[in-house]
Formats: sequence, structure tokens, C-alpha cells
Amino acid sequence: MNAFEQIQAHMKQAATRYGLTVEEITTLLRPNAVHEHLLSVDTSQGQLTLPAYRIQFNNARGPYKGGIRFHPAADKEEVSALAAAMAVKCAVVNIPFGGSKGGVAFDPKQFTRSDLEQISRAYAITFASVLGVDKDIPAPDVYTDAQIMAWMLDAYEIHVGHKEPGMITGKPLALGGSLGRSIATAEGGKLVLEEYVSAAGLTPANLKVAVQGFGNAGATIAKLLYDAGYIIVAVSDTQGTLYGEVGLDPQQIESIKNETGSVVAAVGEGSEVLPLDAIFGVPCDILIPAALDNAIDEVEAAVIQASVILELANNPITPKADSALFLRDVTVIPDVLANAGGVTVSYFEWVQNRQQYYWSEAEVFAKLKPIMVAAYRAVQSTATSQSISLREAAYVEGIGRIAEAMRLRGNL
Ligand code: NAD
Repeated sequence: MNAFEQIQAHMKQAATRYGLTVEEITTLLRPNAVHEHLLSVDTSQGQLTLPAYRIQFNNARGPYKGGIRFHPAADKEEVSALAAAMAVKCAVVNIPFGGSKGGVAFDPKQFTRSDLEQISRAYAITFASVLGVDKDIPAPDVYTDAQIMAWMLDAYEIHVGHKEPGMITGKPLALGGSLGRSIATAEGGKLVLEEYVSAAGLTPANLKVAVQGFGNAGATIAKLLYDAGYIIVAVSDTQGTLYGEVGLDPQQIESIKNETGSVVAAVGEGSEVLPLDAIFGVPCDILIPAALDNAIDEVEAAVIQASVILELANNPITPKADSALFLRDVTVIPDVLANAGGVTVSYFEWVQNRQQYYWSEAEVFAKLKPIMVAAYRAVQSTATSQSISLREAAYVEGIGRIAEAMRLRGNL
């Protein structure tokens, strides 16, 4: 099963539970549009031709929305899977967007910043006719950042001949970005976890947390949970796992990682360095995968001691591992809910751009909280009433909203 087939399987299961017919499900599982071009770019390594994609999965609920990744593995299947997941994610948190995703297949680590600028500008111009504030709104994803969004915005605006800041999100603040966007994914994950913890009658000070991946999402949630009183017992990056039974200080680890390049350099009294994948088996209550997709397969699932997994990464658990964890009663808070804080604050950025009126960080987070809390409670209630996993319940919620919008338009 490739990544797109995996997401389609989740969607099909939820659509069947929601009561759609076989014909309706077939319509629902198809992307609306698959745009594929070769970008011809003059780089420091000579003239290159790079495969580039924009997959527009569904726009029944609003303009398409989804990031752009620069990665050698970006292909039609992977980008389609991410586009479908975006449609579900926006519906789960009930923001008025559909789902799309983009990708360029190359290894950005092999190229200069000037090359990345040429590739970013080429992407924005090549796909300009299908992008736009009311059509399809990109954002950063793996190996793309705020500067890349700035280059894409500039190329697009020159191409169309007018200012249109809301055509892309995750921009630098100086070009209309939103306060709070850089920590929004982790903040949303924290809000969802807080709901779970309080509903279960648990106390943060008694809960041990392990975080796999110490990048933007992982390091930020480790710091937020530490400040909220949770005990961070392990963090990891590509160099290994840092484990400290009585607790680690993620702020201090981040400073050392910034100087040395890895969390393992922060080892000291009360902590030890363990192998990379040891993060999955450490004694803890909450495990947060915040690195790459498919990190947890059956082998990793078998050693997990946590009773809750918060999926901050996209698609971190393989279907076989997911089934094994469900049988073991491990609660998985799924990516389409757990990491939806990022796209929700992207939505706020789009609203602010349209209004040309900007909010304080406190206003952004005050608006994020009720959205994340309502989404968690709806998913939890569906899971309880139908005796299904939180993942299946999230897909039931999301697919239900998409199907309703398609029906009202006469598309189903
Ligand atoms: P990032 O590149 O900033 O961080 C990734 C981290 O994972 C790095 O520290 C890297 O060293 C580490 N890593 C990679 N392979 C690892 C391994 N095998 N073991 C341990 N650590 C490993 O990326 P990010 O923006 O933090 O995104 C992480 C995940 O969260 C991705 O799946 C992304 O799609 C998802 N996500 C991020 C956002 C966001 O706003 N940043 C939003 C939604 C989803």
C-alpha cells in the first residue's frame, strides 16, 4: 500500500461508516485536479529539469490549502496522500478550506540559497494559473520555509500584476505573516493533549513525555509541555536519543543543539545517550513522534510503553503498527487533529491578509484554543459513542463535513 492508498483506506472506512454509497465513495476518493510540470531551472550545477506537482484534492468547503515540500521522494502518490490528508484536517478543525499539496522532487541540501530562490520562483510562476487567494493557498512544508514563501509570493505578484499576500501563508511577518505561526503546530498539539489529560483525570506533573525529533514542531512542544509541568524524559534527533529518568530541560537542550548540532551533546549528570530508535521504548506515559512519516512500524510499536501517542508529525505510524497499538489499548491522537494548529493559524494569516488588519499573538492564541478544543471534543465524543479509535473518529468527522458540502453543491 503506498501513502495515498493508506489515506484512501482511512477515508473509505469513515465514508462507509458515514453512510455514503460505493459510487459516492469513488467520487470522494479522487483528486479534483493533478497538475504536474517539469521546472526548467538554471542552477549552480547547470540547467536542471525538476518534476513538480500541485495536487488539488477537494475544494467543496473552500479554496484549496496545503504546503509545498522540496524533497527527493516527492512524487504523485506522496503529494496526493498529503493533499487528501489536508482536506480531512481542515474539515476536522472546521476551517473553510479544502485540501491540496505541492512538491518538487530534488534534494535541497545539495543546492545554494540562490538556486533555491530560482526553483521557488519557477514553481510559483509555473503553477500561477491554479494558485490564488480564492483558489489554492500554499504554505511551507518539509525543507521549505518563510523565505521560500516570500520568493514565491514575489514571483506570483509580479506575474499577476497586483499585490495578493493571502495567496500564500507561512510568510515572514514583514510580508504579512501572522504572529504565532512558528509555534502554532506545537501549541495546537499541546491544547489537544491538555483536553485528553483533563478528561482522563490525569495531572501533568505525574506524566512523563518522550519526543522523537527535535526540530520546529518537536522542540517547541517539548518546551511548551515542560513549562506546563510535564516531565520531559527523552528527546531525540538524527544523532540519537537523550534520556533522563528524572527529567530534562528542553530549553537548555535547544541552546546546546543550536551550538553543537545535536541534542545528544546536552548529556550530563542525570542523563544518558541511547541509540536513535531507543526513544520509542523509554518508560514514559506520552510519546510524541515529531520527525518523519512511517517512523513507527511493528518493531517500534512492540516496544512502546506510553499509553498515549500524540502524532505531531504527519503519518508517523504505519497501518500495521496502528492496528497493533489499537489492540494494545494505546490511545493515538491522530495527525489530522494533533497537528492541525499549524493550518489553523495559517487560516488566521489568510484572514488577516484579506482584512489588512493584524492581530497580536495573544489574540491569535485566544482564537486557536476554542477551535482545537471543540475539534478534540467532537472527535472524542464520536470515538466514544461509536466505539472506534480517535483516528477513525477524526476521519468520520472530517469526511462527514466534506461529504455534506459536496452534496449541497450537487457533487455527490
Ligand atoms: P524539522 O525539519 O524542523 O524537524 C524534524 C526533526 O526531526 C529534526 O530535528 C531532525 O533531526 C529530526 N529527525 C529526522 N529523522 C529522525 C529520526 N529518524 N529520529 C529522530 N529524529 C529525527 O521539521 P518540523 O517542521 O518540525 O516537522 C516535523 C514533522 O511535523 C513533519 O512530519 C511535518 O510534516 C509535521 N508537521 C509540521 C508542521 C509545522 O508547522 N512545522 C505542521 C504540521 C505537521
